[in-house]
Amino acid sequence: MVLRQPGENGRGRDLMRGLMQEWPLLIHKVIDYAAAEHGGRAVLSRSVEGPMHRTTYREVRARSLRVAKRLQLDGIAVGDRVATLAWNTWRHLEAWYGIAGIGAVYHTVNPRLFADQIVYIMNHARDRVLFLDLTFVPLAEKIAGRLPSVERYIVLTDAAHMPDTSLPNAVAYEEWLAGADEDFTWAAVEETNAAGLCYTSGTTGEPKGVLYSHRSNVLHAMMTVMPDAFGLSTRDVVLPVVPLFHANSWSLAFAAPMAGSALVMPGPKLDGASVYDILTTERVTFTAAVPTIWFALLQHLEKTGGALPDLTRVAIGGSACPPAVIEAFERKYDVPVLHAWGMTEMSPVGSICSVKPEVWSEDYGKLLAVKATQGYTPFSVEWKITDDAGVALPHDGKTFGRLKVRGPAVARRYYQREDEEILDEEGYFDTGDVATIDGDGYMRITDRSKDVIKSGGEWISSIELENLAVGHPDVAEAAVIGISHPKWDERPLLIVVPKPGRVPEKDAVLDFLRPNIARWWMPDDMVVVADLPHTATGKILKTELRDRFRDYRLPTEA
Ligand code: AMP
Repeated sequence: MVLRQPGENGRGRDLMRGLMQEWPLLIHKVIDYAAAEHGGRAVLSRSVEGPMHRTTYREVRARSLRVAKRLQLDGIAVGDRVATLAWNTWRHLEAWYGIAGIGAVYHTVNPRLFADQIVYIMNHARDRVLFLDLTFVPLAEKIAGRLPSVERYIVLTDAAHMPDTSLPNAVAYEEWLAGADEDFTWAAVEETNAAGLCYTSGTTGEPKGVLYSHRSNVLHAMMTVMPDAFGLSTRDVVLPVVPLFHANSWSLAFAAPMAGSALVMPGPKLDGASVYDILTTERVTFTAAVPTIWFALLQHLEKTGGALPDLTRVAIGGSACPPAVIEAFERKYDVPVLHAWGMTEMSPVGSICSVKPEVWSEDYGKLLAVKATQGYTPFSVEWKITDDAGVALPHDGKTFGRLKVRGPAVARRYYQREDEEILDEEGYFDTGDVATIDGDGYMRITDRSKDVIKSGGEWISSIELENLAVGHPDVAEAAVIGISHPKWDERPLLIVVPKPGRVPEKDAVLDFLRPNIARWWMPDDMVVVADLPHTATGKILKTELRDRFRDYRLPTEA
Protein backbone atom coordinates (compact mmCIF):
# COMPACT_ATOMS: atom_id res chain seq x y z
CA MET A 1 0.00 0.00 0.00
CA VAL A 2 1.36 3.40 -0.87
CA LEU A 3 0.44 6.07 1.65
CA ARG A 4 0.49 9.68 0.84
CA GLN A 5 1.41 11.91 3.74
CA PRO A 6 1.08 15.46 2.58
CA GLY A 7 3.07 17.92 4.58
CA GLU A 8 6.11 15.81 5.30
CA ASN A 9 9.21 17.80 4.35
CA GLY A 10 6.75 20.49 3.45
CA ARG A 11 6.38 18.90 0.02
CA GLY A 12 4.46 15.72 0.36
CA ARG A 13 6.19 12.42 -0.03
CA ASP A 14 5.27 8.86 -0.88
CA LEU A 15 5.86 6.37 1.92
CA MET A 16 6.07 2.65 1.30
CA ARG A 17 5.10 0.81 4.48
CA GLY A 18 6.30 -2.69 5.19
CA LEU A 19 3.68 -5.39 5.14
CA MET A 20 4.70 -7.37 8.20
CA GLN A 21 2.57 -8.06 11.25
CA GLU A 22 2.17 -5.67 14.14
CA TRP A 23 3.36 -7.78 17.06
CA PRO A 24 3.86 -5.49 20.03
CA LEU A 25 6.97 -6.09 22.13
CA LEU A 26 5.29 -6.80 25.48
CA ILE A 27 7.09 -8.25 28.45
CA HIS A 28 4.34 -10.75 29.28
CA LYS A 29 5.03 -12.26 25.85
CA VAL A 30 8.40 -13.24 27.30
CA ILE A 31 6.85 -15.41 30.01
CA ASP A 32 4.31 -16.74 27.48
CA TYR A 33 7.21 -17.79 25.28
CA ALA A 34 9.15 -19.37 28.15
CA ALA A 35 6.07 -21.34 29.26
CA ALA A 36 5.32 -22.52 25.71
CA GLU A 37 8.81 -23.41 24.60
CA HIS A 38 10.70 -24.06 27.83
CA GLY A 39 7.79 -24.71 30.17
CA GLY A 40 9.49 -27.36 32.28
CA ARG A 41 12.71 -25.38 32.79
CA ALA A 42 13.52 -24.87 36.45
CA VAL A 43 13.04 -21.67 38.41
CA LEU A 44 14.72 -22.22 41.77
CA SER A 45 14.69 -19.76 44.65
CA ARG A 46 16.07 -19.53 48.11
CA SER A 47 12.91 -18.47 49.91
CA VAL A 48 12.82 -15.74 52.50
CA GLU A 49 11.32 -18.33 54.89
CA GLY A 50 14.44 -20.48 54.41
CA PRO A 51 14.06 -23.59 52.26
CA MET A 52 14.77 -23.82 48.52
CA HIS A 53 11.66 -23.52 46.38
CA ARG A 54 11.39 -25.23 43.00
CA THR A 55 9.05 -24.28 40.21
CA THR A 56 9.03 -23.92 36.40
CA TYR A 57 8.34 -21.24 33.81
CA ARG A 58 5.00 -22.89 33.07
CA GLU A 59 4.00 -22.53 36.70
CA VAL A 60 5.42 -18.99 37.02
CA ARG A 61 3.29 -17.94 34.06
CA ALA A 62 0.18 -19.57 35.47
CA ARG A 63 0.63 -17.80 38.79
CA SER A 64 1.45 -14.48 37.07
CA LEU A 65 -1.91 -14.72 35.32
CA ARG A 66 -3.52 -15.19 38.73
CA VAL A 67 -1.64 -12.16 40.08
CA ALA A 68 -2.96 -10.15 37.14
CA LYS A 69 -6.53 -11.30 37.63
CA ARG A 70 -6.36 -10.74 41.39
CA LEU A 71 -4.94 -7.24 40.97
CA GLN A 72 -7.77 -6.43 38.61
CA LEU A 73 -10.28 -7.66 41.20
CA ASP A 74 -8.66 -5.16 43.58
CA GLY A 75 -9.34 -2.43 41.05
CA ILE A 76 -5.78 -1.99 39.81
CA ALA A 77 -5.82 -0.76 36.22
CA VAL A 78 -3.65 0.26 33.29
CA GLY A 79 -1.01 2.80 34.32
CA ASP A 80 -1.36 2.26 38.09
CA ARG A 81 1.91 1.92 39.97
CA VAL A 82 2.39 -1.20 42.06
CA ALA A 83 5.49 -1.23 44.22
CA THR A 84 7.67 -4.14 45.26
CA LEU A 85 10.08 -4.18 48.20
CA ALA A 86 11.52 -7.61 47.79
CA TRP A 87 14.48 -9.91 47.21
CA ASN A 88 14.93 -12.01 44.08
CA THR A 89 12.49 -14.91 44.42
CA TRP A 90 9.88 -16.65 42.27
CA ARG A 91 7.12 -14.69 43.98
CA HIS A 92 8.72 -11.38 43.07
CA LEU A 93 9.01 -12.62 39.49
CA GLU A 94 5.34 -13.62 39.35
CA ALA A 95 4.34 -10.26 40.77
CA TRP A 96 6.38 -8.47 38.08
CA TYR A 97 4.85 -10.31 35.17
CA GLY A 98 1.38 -10.12 36.70
CA ILE A 99 1.59 -6.36 37.28
CA ALA A 100 2.88 -5.62 33.78
CA GLY A 101 0.37 -8.10 32.32
CA ILE A 102 -2.58 -5.83 33.18
CA GLY A 103 -0.78 -2.77 31.89
CA ALA A 104 0.09 -1.56 35.39
CA VAL A 105 3.62 -0.47 36.27
CA TYR A 106 5.92 -2.45 38.57
CA HIS A 107 7.87 -0.05 40.76
CA THR A 108 10.90 -1.71 42.31
CA VAL A 109 11.83 0.04 45.54
CA ASN A 110 15.38 -0.35 46.82
CA PRO A 111 15.09 -1.40 50.48
CA ARG A 112 18.62 -0.14 51.13
CA LEU A 113 17.52 3.45 50.71
CA PHE A 114 17.02 5.52 53.82
CA ALA A 115 13.38 5.41 55.01
CA ASP A 116 12.74 9.06 54.08
CA GLN A 117 13.87 8.39 50.52
CA ILE A 118 11.55 5.39 50.26
CA VAL A 119 8.68 7.56 51.49
CA TYR A 120 9.61 10.24 48.96
CA ILE A 121 9.74 7.93 45.95
CA MET A 122 6.63 5.95 46.86
CA ASN A 123 4.64 9.16 47.30
CA HIS A 124 6.11 10.56 44.11
CA ALA A 125 5.09 7.39 42.24
CA ARG A 126 1.73 7.30 44.09
CA ASP A 127 1.97 3.53 44.43
CA ARG A 128 -1.40 1.90 45.11
CA VAL A 129 -0.16 -1.48 46.31
CA LEU A 130 3.04 -2.68 47.94
CA PHE A 131 4.24 -6.27 47.57
CA LEU A 132 6.84 -6.83 50.28
CA ASP A 133 8.97 -9.58 51.72
CA LEU A 134 8.76 -10.64 55.37
CA THR A 135 12.16 -9.00 55.85
CA PHE A 136 10.72 -5.58 55.15
CA VAL A 137 7.53 -5.72 57.24
CA PRO A 138 9.12 -3.78 60.16
CA LEU A 139 10.41 -1.11 57.75
CA ALA A 140 7.01 -0.79 56.07
CA GLU A 141 5.24 -0.57 59.44
CA LYS A 142 7.41 2.42 60.34
CA ILE A 143 6.57 4.37 57.19
CA ALA A 144 3.03 3.18 56.34
CA GLY A 145 1.49 6.21 58.05
CA ARG A 146 3.30 8.43 55.57
CA LEU A 147 2.20 6.49 52.47
CA PRO A 148 -1.36 7.72 51.86
CA SER A 149 -1.60 6.30 48.33
CA VAL A 150 -0.93 2.69 49.36
CA GLU A 151 -4.24 0.87 49.72
CA ARG A 152 -2.94 -2.63 50.35
CA TYR A 153 0.15 -4.41 51.64
CA ILE A 154 0.69 -7.88 50.21
CA VAL A 155 3.30 -9.83 52.19
CA LEU A 156 5.10 -12.30 49.92
CA THR A 157 4.55 -15.35 52.09
CA ASP A 158 1.88 -17.88 53.04
CA ALA A 159 -0.67 -17.83 55.85
CA ALA A 160 1.52 -19.97 58.10
CA HIS A 161 4.36 -17.42 58.01
CA MET A 162 2.22 -14.29 58.04
CA PRO A 163 3.27 -12.13 61.00
CA ASP A 164 1.01 -10.02 63.18
CA THR A 165 1.31 -6.63 61.62
CA SER A 166 -0.02 -3.12 61.99
CA LEU A 167 0.13 -2.65 58.20
CA PRO A 168 -3.28 -1.50 56.97
CA ASN A 169 -5.17 -3.97 54.81
CA ALA A 170 -2.31 -6.48 54.96
CA VAL A 171 -2.67 -9.94 53.49
CA ALA A 172 -0.44 -12.96 52.90
CA TYR A 173 0.35 -13.26 49.17
CA GLU A 174 -0.66 -16.92 48.92
CA GLU A 175 -4.03 -16.26 50.54
CA TRP A 176 -4.60 -13.22 48.36
CA LEU A 177 -3.62 -15.19 45.25
CA ALA A 178 -6.05 -17.98 46.12
CA GLY A 179 -8.81 -15.49 45.29
CA ALA A 180 -8.16 -15.77 41.54
CA ASP A 181 -7.63 -18.51 38.99
CA GLU A 182 -5.45 -18.35 35.90
CA ASP A 183 -8.28 -17.96 33.43
CA PHE A 184 -7.19 -14.53 32.34
CA THR A 185 -6.13 -12.77 29.15
CA TRP A 186 -3.23 -10.34 29.36
CA ALA A 187 -4.22 -6.75 28.75
CA ALA A 188 -3.73 -5.66 25.14
CA VAL A 189 -1.54 -2.65 25.80
CA GLU A 190 0.72 -0.88 23.36
CA GLU A 191 4.41 -1.67 23.41
CA THR A 192 5.26 1.94 24.22
CA ASN A 193 3.13 1.81 27.40
CA ALA A 194 4.93 2.08 30.72
CA ALA A 195 5.82 -1.28 32.29
CA GLY A 196 8.34 -0.53 35.04
CA LEU A 197 9.59 2.29 37.23
CA CYS A 198 12.91 2.57 39.03
CA TYR A 199 14.26 5.65 40.79
CA THR A 200 17.88 6.66 40.61
CA SER A 201 19.25 7.59 44.00
CA GLY A 202 19.70 11.27 43.37
CA THR A 203 23.08 12.74 44.16
CA THR A 204 21.79 16.25 43.86
CA GLY A 205 18.16 16.98 44.47
CA GLU A 206 15.51 14.31 44.73
CA PRO A 207 15.65 10.80 43.23
CA LYS A 208 14.44 10.69 39.63
CA GLY A 209 12.09 8.08 38.19
CA VAL A 210 13.10 6.13 35.11
CA LEU A 211 9.96 4.80 33.44
CA TYR A 212 10.67 1.74 31.28
CA SER A 213 8.27 0.73 28.52
CA HIS A 214 7.39 -2.82 27.46
CA ARG A 215 9.28 -2.18 24.24
CA SER A 216 12.43 -0.87 25.93
CA ASN A 217 12.51 -3.84 28.31
CA VAL A 218 12.03 -6.40 25.54
CA LEU A 219 14.61 -4.84 23.21
CA HIS A 220 17.06 -4.45 26.07
CA ALA A 221 16.62 -8.11 27.06
CA MET A 222 17.19 -9.23 23.46
CA MET A 223 20.37 -7.15 23.44
CA THR A 224 21.71 -8.66 26.66
CA VAL A 225 21.07 -12.22 25.44
CA MET A 226 23.36 -11.79 22.41
CA PRO A 227 26.54 -13.91 22.21
CA ASP A 228 29.05 -11.15 22.97
CA ALA A 229 26.79 -9.76 25.68
CA PHE A 230 25.65 -12.30 28.30
CA GLY A 231 25.30 -14.99 25.62
CA LEU A 232 22.45 -16.87 27.31
CA SER A 233 21.03 -20.16 26.04
CA THR A 234 18.96 -23.19 27.06
CA ARG A 235 22.18 -24.75 28.43
CA ASP A 236 22.59 -21.96 30.97
CA VAL A 237 21.61 -21.83 34.61
CA VAL A 238 21.42 -18.13 35.45
CA LEU A 239 21.85 -16.66 38.93
CA PRO A 240 20.94 -12.96 39.12
CA VAL A 241 22.64 -11.95 42.35
CA VAL A 242 22.01 -8.38 41.22
CA PRO A 243 18.59 -7.54 42.68
CA LEU A 244 15.45 -6.88 40.68
CA PHE A 245 15.43 -3.48 42.42
CA HIS A 246 18.77 -2.62 40.77
CA ALA A 247 17.59 -1.59 37.33
CA ASN A 248 15.72 -4.78 36.43
CA SER A 249 18.49 -7.09 37.72
CA TRP A 250 20.36 -6.08 34.57
CA SER A 251 17.49 -7.54 32.58
CA LEU A 252 18.06 -11.13 33.72
CA ALA A 253 14.44 -11.62 34.81
CA PHE A 254 13.49 -11.07 31.16
CA ALA A 255 16.61 -12.36 29.42
CA ALA A 256 16.73 -15.80 31.10
CA PRO A 257 13.13 -16.79 30.21
CA MET A 258 13.60 -15.28 26.74
CA ALA A 259 16.65 -17.50 26.20
CA GLY A 260 15.09 -20.53 27.88
CA SER A 261 17.80 -20.58 30.55
CA ALA A 262 17.06 -22.03 33.96
CA LEU A 263 16.80 -19.36 36.64
CA VAL A 264 18.15 -19.47 40.18
CA MET A 265 17.00 -16.71 42.53
CA PRO A 266 19.21 -16.12 45.58
CA GLY A 267 16.59 -14.65 47.95
CA PRO A 268 17.91 -12.59 50.84
CA LYS A 269 21.27 -14.28 51.39
CA LEU A 270 23.99 -12.52 49.43
CA ASP A 271 27.10 -13.11 51.56
CA GLY A 272 30.11 -14.98 50.14
CA ALA A 273 29.30 -18.36 51.69
CA SER A 274 25.63 -18.30 50.64
CA VAL A 275 26.43 -17.20 47.09
CA TYR A 276 29.04 -19.96 46.86
CA ASP A 277 26.58 -22.49 48.20
CA ILE A 278 23.87 -21.69 45.67
CA LEU A 279 26.37 -21.35 42.77
CA THR A 280 27.70 -24.83 43.34
CA THR A 281 24.59 -26.67 44.56
CA GLU A 282 22.46 -25.47 41.64
CA ARG A 283 25.35 -25.75 39.14
CA VAL A 284 25.02 -22.16 37.96
CA THR A 285 26.73 -21.38 34.63
CA PHE A 286 26.18 -17.59 34.45
CA THR A 287 25.89 -15.01 37.19
CA ALA A 288 26.01 -11.23 37.58
CA ALA A 289 26.53 -8.72 40.39
CA VAL A 290 28.46 -5.68 41.61
CA PRO A 291 32.15 -6.07 42.55
CA THR A 292 31.44 -6.15 46.31
CA ILE A 293 29.60 -9.47 45.99
CA TRP A 294 32.58 -10.94 44.14
CA PHE A 295 35.12 -9.64 46.67
CA ALA A 296 33.19 -11.58 49.30
CA LEU A 297 32.95 -14.72 47.16
CA LEU A 298 36.68 -14.65 46.36
CA GLN A 299 37.49 -14.26 50.04
CA HIS A 300 35.28 -17.21 50.84
CA LEU A 301 36.99 -19.31 48.16
CA GLU A 302 40.42 -18.34 49.55
CA LYS A 303 39.37 -19.37 53.02
CA THR A 304 37.70 -22.64 52.10
CA GLY A 305 39.69 -23.71 49.03
CA GLY A 306 36.46 -24.02 47.04
CA ALA A 307 36.19 -24.22 43.25
CA LEU A 308 33.71 -23.03 40.61
CA PRO A 309 33.57 -25.96 38.17
CA ASP A 310 30.22 -25.18 36.51
CA LEU A 311 30.46 -21.41 36.13
CA THR A 312 31.34 -20.51 32.53
CA ARG A 313 31.38 -16.68 32.95
CA VAL A 314 30.60 -13.97 35.45
CA ALA A 315 29.33 -10.47 34.66
CA ILE A 316 30.64 -7.72 36.93
CA GLY A 317 29.51 -4.10 36.81
CA GLY A 318 27.73 -1.28 38.60
CA SER A 319 31.07 0.12 39.64
CA ALA A 320 34.55 -0.40 38.28
CA CYS A 321 35.82 -3.96 38.62
CA PRO A 322 39.45 -3.98 39.78
CA PRO A 323 41.80 -5.93 37.48
CA ALA A 324 42.86 -8.08 40.47
CA VAL A 325 39.31 -9.44 40.71
CA ILE A 326 39.21 -10.21 36.99
CA GLU A 327 42.57 -11.96 37.24
CA ALA A 328 41.52 -14.01 40.29
CA PHE A 329 38.39 -15.29 38.56
CA GLU A 330 40.16 -16.06 35.32
CA ARG A 331 43.50 -17.45 36.46
CA LYS A 332 42.63 -19.09 39.78
CA TYR A 333 39.12 -20.33 39.06
CA ASP A 334 39.09 -20.46 35.27
CA VAL A 335 35.96 -18.31 35.01
CA PRO A 336 36.02 -15.60 32.30
CA VAL A 337 34.84 -12.17 33.46
CA LEU A 338 32.54 -9.88 31.49
CA HIS A 339 33.06 -6.37 32.81
CA ALA A 340 29.86 -4.42 32.19
CA TRP A 341 28.90 -0.78 32.51
CA GLY A 342 25.52 0.88 32.53
CA MET A 343 23.04 2.84 34.56
CA THR A 344 19.41 2.88 35.65
CA GLU A 345 18.62 5.28 32.80
CA MET A 346 19.93 2.68 30.31
CA SER A 347 17.75 -0.22 31.50
CA PRO A 348 20.73 -0.60 32.54
CA VAL A 349 23.31 -2.25 30.26
CA GLY A 350 25.39 0.16 28.16
CA SER A 351 28.53 -1.80 27.39
CA ILE A 352 30.06 -5.20 27.99
CA CYS A 353 33.68 -6.17 27.71
CA SER A 354 34.07 -9.20 25.52
CA VAL A 355 37.30 -9.78 23.61
CA LYS A 356 37.15 -8.94 19.89
CA PRO A 357 39.63 -10.83 17.69
CA GLU A 358 41.59 -7.62 17.05
CA VAL A 359 42.46 -7.19 20.73
CA TRP A 360 43.13 -10.85 21.53
CA SER A 361 46.60 -11.48 22.94
CA GLU A 362 48.51 -14.51 24.23
CA ASP A 363 50.02 -12.17 26.78
CA TYR A 364 47.62 -12.19 29.75
CA GLY A 365 48.86 -8.79 30.95
CA LYS A 366 47.78 -7.23 27.64
CA LEU A 367 44.48 -9.09 27.67
CA LEU A 368 43.79 -7.99 31.23
CA ALA A 369 44.34 -4.35 30.23
CA VAL A 370 41.50 -4.78 27.71
CA LYS A 371 39.29 -6.76 30.09
CA ALA A 372 39.56 -4.09 32.76
CA THR A 373 37.92 -1.54 30.45
CA GLN A 374 34.15 -1.18 30.49
CA GLY A 375 33.98 -2.72 27.00
CA TYR A 376 32.05 -1.70 23.91
CA THR A 377 28.38 -1.19 23.05
CA PRO A 378 26.11 -4.01 21.97
CA PHE A 379 23.73 -3.32 19.07
CA SER A 380 21.13 -0.70 20.05
CA VAL A 381 23.41 1.50 22.16
CA GLU A 382 25.16 4.44 20.50
CA TRP A 383 27.63 6.64 22.34
CA LYS A 384 29.99 9.57 21.99
CA ILE A 385 32.32 11.53 24.22
CA THR A 386 32.22 15.31 24.16
CA ASP A 387 33.82 18.30 25.82
CA ASP A 388 31.76 20.54 28.10
CA ALA A 389 30.53 22.51 25.10
CA GLY A 390 29.15 19.33 23.52
CA VAL A 391 31.81 19.02 20.82
CA ALA A 392 32.54 15.38 19.96
CA LEU A 393 36.02 14.18 20.95
CA PRO A 394 38.23 11.59 19.19
CA HIS A 395 38.14 7.89 20.05
CA ASP A 396 41.88 7.63 20.63
CA GLY A 397 41.95 5.99 24.06
CA LYS A 398 43.56 9.12 25.54
CA THR A 399 41.13 12.01 25.21
CA PHE A 400 38.52 11.92 27.91
CA GLY A 401 35.14 13.56 27.79
CA ARG A 402 31.56 13.38 28.92
CA LEU A 403 30.07 10.05 27.94
CA LYS A 404 26.70 10.43 26.19
CA VAL A 405 24.39 7.69 24.98
CA ARG A 406 21.24 7.06 22.97
CA GLY A 407 19.16 4.04 22.02
CA PRO A 408 15.72 2.45 22.35
CA ALA A 409 16.32 1.47 26.00
CA VAL A 410 17.77 4.82 27.14
CA ALA A 411 15.63 7.31 29.09
CA ARG A 412 14.17 10.23 27.16
CA ARG A 413 12.60 12.02 30.15
CA TYR A 414 12.23 11.42 33.89
CA TYR A 415 8.87 10.46 35.33
CA GLN A 416 6.76 13.49 36.35
CA ARG A 417 9.51 15.80 35.11
CA GLU A 418 8.46 15.59 31.49
CA ASP A 419 9.10 19.27 30.83
CA GLU A 420 12.79 18.88 31.67
CA GLU A 421 15.01 18.38 28.62
CA ILE A 422 17.64 15.73 29.36
CA LEU A 423 18.91 15.03 25.82
CA ASP A 424 21.23 17.06 23.63
CA GLU A 425 20.20 18.19 20.16
CA GLU A 426 21.30 14.84 18.71
CA GLY A 427 19.20 12.93 21.20
CA TYR A 428 22.05 11.81 23.46
CA PHE A 429 21.72 11.51 27.24
CA ASP A 430 24.65 12.67 29.38
CA THR A 431 25.59 9.77 31.66
CA GLY A 432 27.50 11.94 34.11
CA ASP A 433 30.52 9.71 33.56
CA VAL A 434 33.81 10.82 32.12
CA ALA A 435 35.47 8.33 29.79
CA THR A 436 37.92 7.58 27.00
CA ILE A 437 37.08 5.39 24.00
CA ASP A 438 39.91 3.74 22.05
CA GLY A 439 40.25 2.94 18.36
CA ASP A 440 38.88 -0.59 18.86
CA GLY A 441 35.80 0.81 20.56
CA TYR A 442 36.71 -0.03 24.17
CA MET A 443 35.55 2.53 26.73
CA ARG A 444 37.21 3.29 30.04
CA ILE A 445 35.56 5.31 32.81
CA THR A 446 38.19 7.71 34.09
CA ASP A 447 36.10 9.64 36.54
CA ARG A 448 32.57 10.62 37.50
CA SER A 449 31.31 14.07 37.05
CA LYS A 450 29.22 13.49 40.13
CA ASP A 451 30.69 13.25 43.58
CA VAL A 452 28.63 10.31 44.66
CA ILE A 453 30.25 7.65 46.84
CA LYS A 454 29.75 4.08 45.68
CA SER A 455 29.74 1.60 48.51
CA GLY A 456 29.00 -2.04 47.77
CA GLY A 457 27.14 -1.13 44.59
CA GLU A 458 24.94 1.39 46.41
CA TRP A 459 25.22 5.16 46.33
CA ILE A 460 25.89 7.40 49.28
CA SER A 461 25.14 11.05 48.75
CA SER A 462 28.01 13.21 49.95
CA ILE A 463 25.81 16.28 50.03
CA GLU A 464 23.29 14.71 52.38
CA LEU A 465 26.03 13.69 54.83
CA GLU A 466 27.60 17.14 54.62
CA ASN A 467 24.29 18.83 55.25
CA LEU A 468 23.80 16.74 58.37
CA ALA A 469 27.35 17.17 59.65
CA VAL A 470 27.22 20.94 59.51
CA GLY A 471 24.27 20.72 61.87
CA HIS A 472 26.65 19.70 64.67
CA PRO A 473 27.43 22.60 67.02
CA ASP A 474 31.22 22.20 66.66
CA VAL A 475 31.28 21.97 62.83
CA ALA A 476 31.57 25.00 60.59
CA GLU A 477 31.89 23.29 57.24
CA ALA A 478 31.98 19.71 56.06
CA ALA A 479 32.88 17.75 52.97
CA VAL A 480 32.50 14.04 52.32
CA ILE A 481 34.54 12.19 49.74
CA GLY A 482 34.86 8.55 48.78
CA ILE A 483 38.06 6.81 49.82
CA SER A 484 38.84 3.59 48.05
CA HIS A 485 38.19 0.51 50.14
CA PRO A 486 39.22 -3.07 49.35
CA LYS A 487 35.84 -4.57 50.23
CA TRP A 488 33.23 -1.89 49.55
CA ASP A 489 34.89 -0.16 46.60
CA GLU A 490 34.54 3.20 48.36
CA ARG A 491 33.64 4.38 51.84
CA PRO A 492 32.90 7.92 52.98
CA LEU A 493 35.48 10.07 54.74
CA LEU A 494 34.07 13.08 56.58
CA ILE A 495 36.28 16.16 56.53
CA VAL A 496 35.27 19.00 58.87
CA VAL A 497 36.34 22.54 59.61
CA PRO A 498 35.80 23.49 63.29
CA LYS A 499 33.81 26.45 64.44
CA PRO A 500 36.12 29.03 66.04
CA GLY A 501 37.19 27.95 69.50
CA ARG A 502 35.62 24.49 69.16
CA VAL A 503 37.19 21.05 68.80
CA PRO A 504 34.88 18.56 66.99
CA GLU A 505 35.27 15.02 68.37
CA LYS A 506 34.92 12.20 65.87
CA ASP A 507 32.67 10.03 68.04
CA ALA A 508 30.42 12.93 68.95
CA VAL A 509 29.96 14.03 65.34
CA LEU A 510 29.31 10.49 64.09
CA ASP A 511 26.81 9.91 66.93
CA PHE A 512 25.13 13.09 65.80
CA LEU A 513 24.68 11.68 62.28
CA ARG A 514 23.60 8.22 63.39
CA PRO A 515 19.84 8.73 63.95
CA ASN A 516 19.44 10.43 60.59
CA ILE A 517 21.15 8.08 58.18
CA ALA A 518 21.14 4.46 57.15
CA ARG A 519 23.86 2.56 59.01
CA TRP A 520 25.92 1.86 55.91
CA TRP A 521 26.02 5.59 55.11
CA MET A 522 28.04 6.25 58.26
CA PRO A 523 31.47 7.75 57.37
CA ASP A 524 34.29 5.36 58.18
CA ASP A 525 36.43 8.15 59.57
CA MET A 526 36.55 11.87 60.25
CA VAL A 527 39.41 14.30 59.96
CA VAL A 528 39.59 17.92 61.09
CA VAL A 529 41.18 20.50 58.77
CA ALA A 530 41.71 24.25 59.07
CA ASP A 531 39.89 25.03 55.83
CA LEU A 532 38.40 23.52 52.64
CA PRO A 533 39.26 24.43 49.04
CA HIS A 534 36.47 26.20 47.13
CA THR A 535 35.56 27.00 43.53
CA ALA A 536 34.92 30.50 42.28
CA THR A 537 31.22 30.10 42.97
CA GLY A 538 31.82 28.99 46.55
CA LYS A 539 31.36 25.25 46.03
CA ILE A 540 33.71 22.82 47.74
CA LEU A 541 36.39 21.73 45.31
CA LYS A 542 36.08 17.96 45.59
CA THR A 543 38.72 17.18 43.02
CA GLU A 544 41.34 18.95 45.06
CA LEU A 545 40.17 17.27 48.25
CA ARG A 546 40.40 13.89 46.60
CA ASP A 547 43.93 14.70 45.50
CA ARG A 548 44.83 15.79 48.99
CA PHE A 549 43.48 12.55 50.51
CA ARG A 550 44.63 10.27 47.71
CA ASP A 551 46.85 8.19 49.99
CA TYR A 552 44.57 8.30 53.00
CA ARG A 553 43.92 4.88 54.53
CA LEU A 554 40.65 4.29 56.35
CA PRO A 555 40.77 2.56 59.74
CA THR A 556 38.16 0.08 58.43
CA GLU A 557 40.46 -1.10 55.64
CA ALA A 558 41.92 -3.89 57.72
P1 AMP B 1 23.21 3.24 38.67
O1 AMP B 1 22.25 4.08 37.89
O2 AMP B 1 22.96 3.24 40.13
O3 AMP B 1 23.29 1.89 38.10
O4 AMP B 1 24.66 3.88 38.53
C1 AMP B 1 25.21 4.14 37.27
C2 AMP B 1 26.62 4.61 37.43
O5 AMP B 1 27.44 3.60 38.02
C3 AMP B 1 27.29 4.92 36.13
O6 AMP B 1 26.92 6.18 35.63
C4 AMP B 1 28.76 4.82 36.52
O7 AMP B 1 29.19 5.99 37.19
C5 AMP B 1 28.76 3.69 37.53
N1 AMP B 1 29.16 2.42 36.91
C6 AMP B 1 28.38 1.41 36.49
N2 AMP B 1 29.11 0.40 36.00
C7 AMP B 1 30.40 0.77 36.09
C8 AMP B 1 31.64 0.15 35.73
N3 AMP B 1 31.71 -1.06 35.21
N4 AMP B 1 32.77 0.86 35.97
C9 AMP B 1 32.73 2.10 36.50
N5 AMP B 1 31.60 2.72 36.87
C10 AMP B 1 30.44 2.07 36.66
